[in-house]
This record gives sequence, structure tokens and C-alpha cells, in this order.
Amino acid sequence: MARRKKIYEGKAKILYEGTEPGTLVQYFKDDATAFNAEKKATIEGKGVLNNRLSEFFMTGLTQIGVPNHFIKRINMREQLIRAVEIVPLEVIVRNFAAGSMAKRLGLEEGTPLPRPIVEFSYKDDALGDPLVPEEYIIAFGWATQQDMDDIVALALRVNDFMSGIMYGVGIKLIDFKIEIGRIFEGDFMRLIVADEISPDSCRLWDMKTGQKLDKDVFRRDLGNLTDAYTEVARRLGVMPNNVSPATKPTLIN
Ligand code: UDP
Repeated sequence: MARRKKIYEGKAKILYEGTEPGTLVQYFKDDATAFNAEKKATIEGKGVLNNRLSEFFMTGLTQIGVPNHFIKRINMREQLIRAVEIVPLEVIVRNFAAGSMAKRLGLEEGTPLPRPIVEFSYKDDALGDPLVPEEYIIAFGWATQQDMDDIVALALRVNDFMSGIMYGVGIKLIDFKIEIGRIFEGDFMRLIVADEISPDSCRLWDMKTGQKLDKDVFRRDLGNLTDAYTEVARRLGVMPNNVSPATKPTLIN
């Protein structure tokens, strides 16, 4: 069998050529990075969990009509996705102050925001993904005003979906990051949710205890990251393959 072509390797994922034109294989690594890759580690099992969790969220988004890149899961670490042209922005949605926003504005982490806030960082590791106003995005041609309206609408739909899903399992969605891709269908261009949605790119706090169940566990040395992600997966009923049948819930029709 010929070796498949690697298209791109990032910090947590690798993209390979897909099986059909217009598709890619997305491989989830166990590598974790933080603070613009200044802190690095390999965390066994993280890739498997994120592959499953991203599948779960993207499939749910498809079911409520939010277009995204997910096609199907291939195995424990790989999924088939639509090839897109990535808009060079990190689209961040915040419901409660945390992380860089809390720091910038001197807010206590967990302070509820008056409404969901959508903000954008320019995707450039060398610059440390700087926060940019919409005016820069349009002026520099990274996206048009119409694109931005569509991106904000998509981001807010993802926010409502993710907040509801998490609320149902006793988790507060503090904030998250998504990336958006362009696909071309004949003369038409469409914007869809791309990259991944996983505890690597969300802040998730237990509703009762405030325990962190996301990448901050790694960033801030708060414990075992795999345990935190496994807890999110367990609550959502997203079972990794190696769970023994005896502990799987029985579905009754
Ligand atoms: N985020 C991400 N990738 C990044 C930067 C941020 O996935 O390169 C996510 C992060 O996990 C959090 C949200 O976006 O859920 C907001 O992050 P923030 O701007 O507060 O930055 P941080 O505190 O992570 O540096």
C-alpha cells in the first residue's frame, strides 16, 4: 500500500490526503501544547478522546443544521473531513470571563458576561495569535463583512448548542474557540465549522464544584488531563472503544 500524503502537521493534529477528492483525514495526536507551544507534553489517550468528542459535537451540529467539516470517523484517532480553506481567524465565544479576557479586563474568572461575546484572533503562531478587531479583518481582506456576519451567526449557534449540551450534563460552558472554513460549490462559497470542537478548545467547569474539565488542567497543572476529558466523555455517553461491555449503558428501545 502506498504511503498516504501528509498535507499539514499542527500541534495537536495531522492532516492527510483523503480517500475522495475534497476530503482529508484528520489524525488526533496525544500532544498537548499551551502558551503558544512554550509548554509541551504527550498525554496518553487525549487524541482518542478528542477524536470521539469532536465527532459527537460535529454530528450534533449537523443534526441541528449547522454546517461543518465532519464526514465520518474512521478509527480511534482518525476522522474523514471535508477539505476547506481555513479563514485565518480563531473565533472565540465567551459566556463567562476567563483566561485572557479576565486578565485583560481585571475580571474575576467565572464572572457572567452581559451577553455572549464573540471575538477574533489572527491565526499566526509567530505573533502569538493577536486579538484583532473586525475592522482589521475586513481591511486586510481575511474575510468580508458578509463573511463576518455569517461567522458570528455560526459561532452563536454553536454556542447555544454547546451550552445546552453541557448544561444537560452539569457542565458550564465558559468559552470556546472554533475555526471556520470555506468550501466552494460551483459558483458558490459557503462557510462551515472546521478544525475540532473538544475540551482542548473549550473551557468547561463542573456546574456544582467549579472543577475544571478542559485544557486548563494542563495549562495550570491542576491534575490529570485524560481523567478530565474522560469525565466529559463519560457524562456525554461518549464511550471510548476500549470500555468493557459490562460498563456500557444498555439502550432500551
Ligand atoms: N483557545 C484555543 N486555542 C487558542 C487560544 C484559545 O482553543 O490558541 C480557546 C481556549 O481554550 C478557551 C478560549 O479559546 O476556551 C478562550 O481563550 P483565551 O483567549 O482566554 O486564551 P488563553 O487564556 O487560553 O490564552
